[in-house]
Amino acid sequence: LILYYFQRLPLIAAPANVIVVPIASFAVPLALLASVVAQLWQALGDVLLWLTGALVTVIYALIRWCAAVPYAAPRLGAVSWPLVGFIYATLWALAYSRRSRLARWGAVSGGVVVGAWLLWPWLLPDGHGQLQVTFLDVGHGDATVIRFPHGTTMLVDGGGSYRDDVDIGERVVAPFLWHERLRRLDYVVATHPHPDHAKGLRFPLQHFRVRQFWDNGAPLRSQWYSELRQEAMTRGLYRDVVDEGVASMTIDGVRLEVLHPTAAYQPQAKRRGRAGEDPDENNRSLVLKLTYGRASFLLTGDIEQDAEAFLVRMGHDLRATVVKAPHHGSRTSSSEPFVRAVNPSVAVFSVPHDSRFGHPHPVVLERYRALGALIVRTDEHGAITVRTDGHSIWVEPYVGESVVLPIPAAHRLAETPRQPWMEAR
Ligand SMILES: [Zn+2]
Repeated sequence: LILYYFQRLPLIAAPANVIVVPIASFAVPLALLASVVAQLWQALGDVLLWLTGALVTVIYALIRWCAAVPYAAPRLGAVSWPLVGFIYATLWALAYSRRSRLARWGAVSGGVVVGAWLLWPWLLPDGHGQLQVTFLDVGHGDATVIRFPHGTTMLVDGGGSYRDDVDIGERVVAPFLWHERLRRLDYVVATHPHPDHAKGLRFPLQHFRVRQFWDNGAPLRSQWYSELRQEAMTRGLYRDVVDEGVASMTIDGVRLEVLHPTAAYQPQAKRRGRAGEDPDENNRSLVLKLTYGRASFLLTGDIEQDAEAFLVRMGHDLRATVVKAPHHGSRTSSSEPFVRAVNPSVAVFSVPHDSRFGHPHPVVLERYRALGALIVRTDEHGAITVRTDGHSIWVEPYVGESVVLPIPAAHRLAETPRQPWMEAR
């Protein structure tokens, strides 16, 4: 059951129980006794409660110590209910294997199946011939997990909190990756060095096998981001894709283009930022386009009007079946010419519940809706997975109904009339 809910196999549980249970068997009756005695004689009750508290402290310390043992509870990824049943049946057969020949056979064959399940991520190449993009619900921030058709993986932004009390990378991003049974991240990408995009990348960078770490080479302005980039550099993973001019590459049959920023980009409207901040950091977000068959995805980071206008001016083919609305659907982004140039069938908004910035802005939502785009948002739908085989796309929100959309041979032009399915939501 721990494996089912937490994707971890608690190997340490049995020895830990041997140590902790005898202490707990004192602590529980003592606590009950203390609660009764305290009604009759407060002072004695207090002493007994203090003793109970001391025992519980010892138990906690022992548990922490056990949990810190290497391989105490290895992470194995998601298991299904049938497999949980299978594991229990195997254990049951094992218990009776001395008495019955049938149980012996059951235990052996059960062991083989469970062993094969444990090993398959290492034995078989993963990937299912589809491009799968998941927009995780990270509150205010972005985190996108991409699984290419032959198993290559990419994480674009990892969410993150402006405060230090919650590590989104550890609490949200990594559990999703473990759930998907992914241990390797071929590419980890920071669109720009803001906490809500990059702070959550540290944990995956440290706990998964990462091949390359990409960012836009922006000047270092914060201690935490300097450390992140330094770690990637020390481990030989770092690539400044803007400086290197990485324009386009093919991964598992998917064309990946880095559209923005280029060395030619200079923000037009210089605005004043707070001391030590570059007000145009958002506009220098990496913009990636993925194309697989007829389907395409545009990942826009936090670009604002200035970068959007630049992209349109540069004459890039911005049309995309799915767009991650720039800057969490802020009013400063998704300008009319940009939205028309992208003309998406699906617009994904990565926004928190009750955004204090008022994301997404109603005007922006309406702009996408007017073009007939299906609107999906992480605050209402949770994580949103979009899969494609290059001909159709499946939009699968964690909350709510899934939708299948065919992609026309020629990407729709902005004038295309609204389709009936677009009214569904
Ligand atoms: Zn952001």
